[in-house]
Amino acid sequence: MRLVLLGPPGAGKGTHAQVLSKEFEITHVSTGEMLREALRVSSPLGLEAKQYMDKGELVPDEVVMALVAERLSKPDAAPGFILDGFPRTRRQGEGLDRTLRGLRMPLDLVVYFKTSAEVIVSRLSGRRVCGQCGKNYHVKNFRPKVDGICDVCGRALVQRPDDREETIGHRLEVYEEQTAPLVEYYRKKGLLVEVSGDLDLGPLQAVLAGLFHQKGLLPAKA
Ligand code: ADP
Ligand code: ZN
Repeated sequence: MRLVLLGPPGAGKGTHAQVLSKEFEITHVSTGEMLREALRVSSPLGLEAKQYMDKGELVPDEVVMALVAERLSKPDAAPGFILDGFPRTRRQGEGLDRTLRGLRMPLDLVVYFKTSAEVIVSRLSGRRVCGQCGKNYHVKNFRPKVDGICDVCGRALVQRPDDREETIGHRLEVYEEQTAPLVEYYRKKGLLVEVSGDLDLGPLQAVLAGLFHQKGLLPAKA
């Protein structure tokens, strides 16, 4: 299965992508994670990207397009993939079309997580992440066993610089301006399905399972 998850920051794309990649045994490709990983190892790419990310701006198209093209041509993407956070501009969408045409791997589906502003702001402002393993928590909805400490690796939880309240508003503007037009782009291609990103994890998982079933896209182990 070849899938794009589309929607605003805080829609739950990353969380659902993780679940789906296990279920369907396909590769999860998150450009945000790839860029943060590049920063963790202090690569030139990571350091360049940080300037944009911290401000809630998009990293230049060429940079992420090259990253994704390289990632999708690796053997582990052949059985299928989930793109999470890419494409984010019309140019990236067109670039992805070219890449996938070259690889002869057309998309099956684009799932649009339609999400209200209140839900987005509450999810992003309450989000905390592990500085070590990157696992996500939430101060109200998904707390670690010990306050401020990662359940998995025992390190301190931090707030992502772009999750500060003053940056969230700007990220939403950037989304509306640059990413939201992709909804129509994929609708016109007949690839788009819409779900509610306002739903909690369990209910939305059920909606997605029904949707994939209806499309004949079945998990690795039924
Ligand atoms: P969120 O969906 O919560 O905003 P991501 O992890 O997807 O988080 O992205 C974090 C940041 O990484 C973005 O604000 C942007 O700066 C950068 N980024 C990620 N994906 C892309 C992309 N496809 N194009 C440009 N910038 C990107
Ligand atoms: Zn951790």
